[in-house]
Amino acid sequence: MDNLAFACAVCNRNKGTDVAALSVSGDPVSLFHPRRQAWRDHFRFDGPFIRPLTEAGEVTVRVLRMNEPWRVRERMASCP
Ligand SMILES: [Zn+2]
Repeated sequence: MDNLAFACAVCNRNKGTDVAALSVSGDPVSLFHPRRQAWRDHFRFDGPFIRPLTEAGEVTVRVLRMNEPWRVRERMASCP
């Protein structure tokens, strides 16, 4: 149990086996680690969008495709 983190099926599928990705500057950056890092340090909500605050947040939003249009619509519907 110490090695598990809650994740929705979509994020889990999009993450796959990835633990890092190239940042916009081309450097490898670890994905956000939900058991070791605080969500609020790496992301913020902007209405229904999840905005990254750090490079770890940026690669995580991109790899997990957190702002795909259907996901944003789903957030809008559940948090009007
Ligand atoms: Zn998710």
